[in-house]
Amino acid sequence: MDKNMKALAQFLNSAHSVYHATAALEAELRKAGYTRLQEDKAWELVPGGKYYLTRGGSAVLAFRLPKAAPEGFLISASHTDRPCFKVKENGILAGAYTRLAVEKYGGAIISPWLDRPLSVAGRVTVETEEGVENRLVDFDRDLLLIPNVAVHMNRKINEGYAWNLAVDTIPLLGGKDAGDKFWKELEKLAGGKVLGHDLYLYVRQETSVWGLEEEFFSAPAIDDLECAWACTQGFLNAGETPNVPVLAVFDSEEVGSGSYQGAAADFMESALARICRELNLEESCQKAKSFLVSADNGHALHPNHPELSDGNNAPVLNGGVVIKFNANQKYTTDGQSAAIFRKVCRKADVPVQTYCNRADIAGGSTLGNISLRQVAVPSVDIGLAQLAMHSCYETAGVQDVTYLQKAMTAYYGITLKVTENGGFTVK
Ligand code: ZN
Repeated sequence: MDKNMKALAQFLNSAHSVYHATAALEAELRKAGYTRLQEDKAWELVPGGKYYLTRGGSAVLAFRLPKAAPEGFLISASHTDRPCFKVKENGILAGAYTRLAVEKYGGAIISPWLDRPLSVAGRVTVETEEGVENRLVDFDRDLLLIPNVAVHMNRKINEGYAWNLAVDTIPLLGGKDAGDKFWKELEKLAGGKVLGHDLYLYVRQETSVWGLEEEFFSAPAIDDLECAWACTQGFLNAGETPNVPVLAVFDSEEVGSGSYQGAAADFMESALARICRELNLEESCQKAKSFLVSADNGHALHPNHPELSDGNNAPVLNGGVVIKFNANQKYTTDGQSAAIFRKVCRKADVPVQTYCNRADIAGGSTLGNISLRQVAVPSVDIGLAQLAMHSCYETAGVQDVTYLQKAMTAYYGITLKVTENGGFTVK
């Protein structure tokens, strides 16, 4: 298997929840010599230093300082979360069978969640002598399944079906009285008394590379862990730059980014402001010479439904990095930011595709324009083309994995400066 694909597959196969994805990214940063900073402690930044911080256990921000006086920030933003199901409070539903009550998180496609092994992973908050402490937990075994109703009992299932989220999507956990055992196993995994939880269902199927020439892959959470991974690899592998490379990976994109650790919060804004204060930089000058790449996957031309794409702006799998455009600023790209990113991709020898919604289809949104409300800098929205977005098992192109890593490696190594007439030099 392609080396970059293999590394991505390993990451996807271990990132069973937002917390596990974040922990894996943190491990990459630590391995590369990054020092953890804490928002509640003093920072001592030194030229050439490499740092990261996390928030809420599910968002991470890393940066490194050049040895000389810094130019603007080179930022990328992506997200750790995926549409799925969250375990509810008082989640044990007793009866002839024991089921686990769940609530839909984000805009998931429901049908693929049925009739396949599922498990539970996330974070629990346990009681300690002094207070409370967070721990990651993962049952990491085939534990649950949401069974379909037999076609004999629902003859119209293949004519389009409206799923009732309080009835149809409740997973089966065990026989009668399995609830206590579930809770005991959870406390055993947590190693303490659980006072609070953020637990999510995940599908057990691992990454599969497939196709006549193994040109495609499928996995859970390709949106947006593929971009989060590529941005991290690009960030870590890039050459020296007088700019300040910043890697931001947020939670809560699938539910509007409005959490403590989402792109609408002040996580990045306060970190960048603090870097400026520590280094005696004028913050508004610093921002005016910065740039943001909002990296979140986009829609590929669908093999069975080409009519859903815009004729001239319909990216394909393995066709290269996608720049996303929207006149109403759902995507932040403008002519200048697109031109800057095209130059970056040319430096990296990576092909570029473009995406626009069909004019009569509303399309989705992402975290670029939300994060600009906190940190306003010139920005481009990009991603990779994928199929079945928001399915629990999505599909993308193997070659694109390398394309985005190369593009992000080039991006984080550029020297970006504002010119007298408001343009940029990109070297
Ligand atoms: Zn996304």
